[in-house]
Amino acid sequence: MEELHADLVVIGSGPAGQNGAIQAAKLGKSVILIDKDPYPGGASLNSGTIPSKSLREAIIDLTDFYERSFYGKDRPIRSVSINDLNFRLNIILDEQRKMLTRQFDKNHIRFIHGCAEFEDSNHIVADGVRIRAEYVLIATGSKPRNPTNVPFDSEKILDSTRLLAIDHVPKTLIVLGGGIIGSEYASFFAALGTEVTVVDKREHLLPLLDTEIGLHLQKALSAIGLKMVGNKEFDSIRRVNDLVEVHFKDGSTMQAEMLLYALGREANVDKLHIEKAGIALDKTGHIPVNALFQTVALNIYAAGDVIGAPALASTSMEQGRLAVRQAFGAQTHHFPSFYPIGIYTIPEISSCGYTENELKELGFRYEIGRAYYYEIARNQIVGNDPGMFKILFHAETLEILGIHIIGRAATEVIHIGQVAMSFNARIDYFIDQVFNYPTYAEGYRIAALNGFNKIKHRK
Ligand SMILES: Cc1cc2nc3c(=O)[nH]c(=O)nc-3n(C[C@H](O)[C@H](O)[C@H](O)COP(=O)(O)OP(=O)(O)OC[C@H]3O[C@@H](n4cnc5c(N)ncnc54)[C@H](O)[C@@H]3O)c2cc1C
Repeated sequence: MEELHADLVVIGSGPAGQNGAIQAAKLGKSVILIDKDPYPGGASLNSGTIPSKSLREAIIDLTDFYERSFYGKDRPIRSVSINDLNFRLNIILDEQRKMLTRQFDKNHIRFIHGCAEFEDSNHIVADGVRIRAEYVLIATGSKPRNPTNVPFDSEKILDSTRLLAIDHVPKTLIVLGGGIIGSEYASFFAALGTEVTVVDKREHLLPLLDTEIGLHLQKALSAIGLKMVGNKEFDSIRRVNDLVEVHFKDGSTMQAEMLLYALGREANVDKLHIEKAGIALDKTGHIPVNALFQTVALNIYAAGDVIGAPALASTSMEQGRLAVRQAFGAQTHHFPSFYPIGIYTIPEISSCGYTENELKELGFRYEIGRAYYYEIARNQIVGNDPGMFKILFHAETLEILGIHIIGRAATEVIHIGQVAMSFNARIDYFIDQVFNYPTYAEGYRIAALNGFNKIKHRK
């Protein structure tokens, strides 16, 4: 067996692994990166973030989604084939993979294709190679949960990975699970003209959202034909001829051409043998780490989906980078206490900071500034989509406490608010600045004026 040595071995080449590996190389360390997938990039590039967001943009463009408000909702939706969508997706995946490989080469990171497993806390084997590692970053990510009572195939009963291999756009689709992945794909297919029903045991989609934003979303989704059925739990799923049939615990049934099972993901730990490194999983099946991403084995760090929530590509990147800086004694900081969350439903949503319900529970004295998208000139120019800005701020100090945006460009413009919040800005900051016009960013100013006027008139 070939024997190698590295300052850092990274297991998994998704966002956490890539960023950890590149950070170590920039610190002058030797790095070996192992992935069991022949294509580097992890779930983020190969089956999650990038494919889903690429499909979203392709669907919006190819169906002329934003033209509907100008030319009538009753205009037939332009038919788009899976080949049209995959053509565009494959170009993007190819470019992203090439870029990643260039980055690894430039930073002298050796990539080994193989399934890694621990021999002990300093030795890892993969693809017939045994590596002695001073430090290890476990960044093995997650995969869709596949319970044994769901007869998955790659044709009709799908998870978010299998969905990428369908050969046509279904006429009807059931989505089990109204979390982020379920809601995003449900809205994409609704925009394509598929009759979509989302079923969840909770009453509403995405309960993590600020309630007002959640209601706005529900309204926007029903306007594009998406049906949400809450308070329902599935009992069994089976194929009946060319259809999928779901039986629910309340005795009802539902049929559709395809089903997307989007009820959770689980950490990729099955073949790692982390017990040989002295690490045990927590009760949710994730690798426990301290605030510096260090496991109980002091030379082993873990980051990304494998350590659990928030399980986003965005947060995984920063975790991987911070973990490696800590391991090699470089100057570092704690993971930020607030960061934006982006949800790419159609319309998209992004938020940063507290929700209104959280502020109520914490007993804050807060006020709200709102701007609706119909008040924003830019929105009228590009398509008059539904949407709103909601800014929560302290009623006395005026400090911004939370920003919630639903509508076009939400995942981009949230960063203006994020930066303002990280400098402890007050709501009047947005009033005293000049914004480009016409832009979506102007929503901050309109919402700030709305909120500030409420305070002014109260005094
Ligand atoms: C449909 C979907 C949409 C998403 N959309 C977004 C979004 O819009 N924005 C966002 O921020 N996040 C999004 N996410 C989440 C995001 O993809 C994950 O949070 C992110 O990929 C986690 O990164 P990671 O580095 O922890 O692991 P992963 O990206 O999961 O990569 C882990 C890698 O480890 C490898 N591996 C596992 N075990 C071994 C082993 N024993 N040996 C060698 N290699 C191994 C795997 O092959 C994989 O390549 C989405 C996820 C899905 C599924």
